[in-house]
Amino acid sequence: MSTPGTTDRPLTVAIIGAGPSGFYAAEALLKAPGLTVRVDIYDRLPTPFGLARGGVAPDHQKIKSVTAVYEKVAMDPRVRFFGNVMLGRDVKIEDLRTRYDQVVYAVGCESDRKMSIPGEDLGGSYSATEFVGWYNGHPDHRHKKFDLSCENVAVVGIGNVAMDVTRLLACDPERLAKTDIADYALEALRKSKVKTVWLLGRRGPAEAAYSPVEIEEFGKLEGCDLVIKPEEAVVGAVSHLETADANDKKKVAYVQEHATKGEGKQARKIRLRYCVSPVEIVGEGGKIKSVKLEKNKLIDDGKGGAKCVGVGEFETIPAGMILRSVGYRGIPIPGVAFDDKSGHIPNKDGRVVTGGAPLPGEYVVGWAKRGPSGLIGTNRADSVLTVQSMLEDLKAGRLSAGPVDASLEAAPKLLASRGVNVVSYAQWKKLDELERSRGAAKGKIREKFTSIEEMTAALSVPA
Ligand code: NAP
Repeated sequence: MSTPGTTDRPLTVAIIGAGPSGFYAAEALLKAPGLTVRVDIYDRLPTPFGLARGGVAPDHQKIKSVTAVYEKVAMDPRVRFFGNVMLGRDVKIEDLRTRYDQVVYAVGCESDRKMSIPGEDLGGSYSATEFVGWYNGHPDHRHKKFDLSCENVAVVGIGNVAMDVTRLLACDPERLAKTDIADYALEALRKSKVKTVWLLGRRGPAEAAYSPVEIEEFGKLEGCDLVIKPEEAVVGAVSHLETADANDKKKVAYVQEHATKGEGKQARKIRLRYCVSPVEIVGEGGKIKSVKLEKNKLIDDGKGGAKCVGVGEFETIPAGMILRSVGYRGIPIPGVAFDDKSGHIPNKDGRVVTGGAPLPGEYVVGWAKRGPSGLIGTNRADSVLTVQSMLEDLKAGRLSAGPVDASLEAAPKLLASRGVNVVSYAQWKKLDELERSRGAAKGKIREKFTSIEEMTAALSVPA
């Protein structure tokens, strides 16, 4: 029998998840010197690109242009796309183990962390994940209803996701009108009564997770003031700002300068608060009315950084809706290793590990590998590292335990036998074209299909 990875017998790889990390893994495999490889990329949605399509905010189109790189990978004749195929539902991991030499999980983190405070389950309390999916027309979230008839919204956490949802709530919706925002979301934002977004950071400006461009963007929003309390824009010794990187210093300088500007005169406000933690969401008639905050102080965390502790001083802010944006977490896939504590797939250098030992032929990339951190580009280097492990294992003969049907037809035959309505890359290109022309008719970049039924129906219409 020929060795996998050669012209006689290409290495066969299944990548589960067509988001950035999955595409970067495919790209690294295609570029591996001397390797003959075939890559099948699966996604549970008919559409590729993961968070680049369903996560990146509609007013950040430049970031979305990264999909041109993924497109190039997808068009490579060694790559196939199997859209609308869900691992655990349409195919089982055992099916893949017998059809591929290596399987790569690029499934991201599709759920979110909770704050675990009283009132979190009241009406009007959501995760930012849901809100992001809603305005981006993600099929999982398109039906969600967000009541924007209130004047105050609280956003918890000050990472870049919190910045995105805050900006979308506080900006003039006309700024979004030409983007690929879902039409129902644009309409809802046009009718929104929200005037103030309270953005709540539990630590100080030196510890903030947002990027400098994101905070500077707030300062440039038309019709909206960024309001920061000067007494909260301070940095103590435990923050070790002197050893911080240039980005952190830049963010602090911006915040301290901006804090001197006061209330401003615009109708809408982003009230960015530091060193406060929500301790209770207070409701009336089952719906949120306000949020009780505790003031924090920062203490040395013993690791060169600062952690927060409550000081027993409380205040209440009005809020008719609260979006928690305190981090994502993974969802377990039947038959695939999962660490419930960390919320991702346990691994060593990208090799999936169970009971302390690597599982032959199974790998992980992206947020499913390291947790929900980093910008889109961070995934490229990270996927390259996993592919290095894959190539080392190939060289050492550490592949899937059992025999593998590596024929081109193996996967399509299985999917056909299960009656799965697979969407190919060529079909996605058709959807892409339709979305762009639907958008053009409204002066938008694209008008997305937001349900799987709509997508498959559009594809069965003769061209
Ligand atoms: P993140 O960057 O990890 O931020 C999470 C935020 O939640 C932090 O401010 C954190 O505070 C806070 N937090 C955690 N637990 C909390 C609690 N119990 N109470 C109050 N606050 C709490 O996560 P993210 O915003 O979800 O973003 C995920 C990744 O995607 C990040 O790497 C981000 O940069 C990236 N992203 C980038 C963009 C962009 O480039 N425009 C857009 C969206 C997302 P502490 O710091 O105190 O832990």
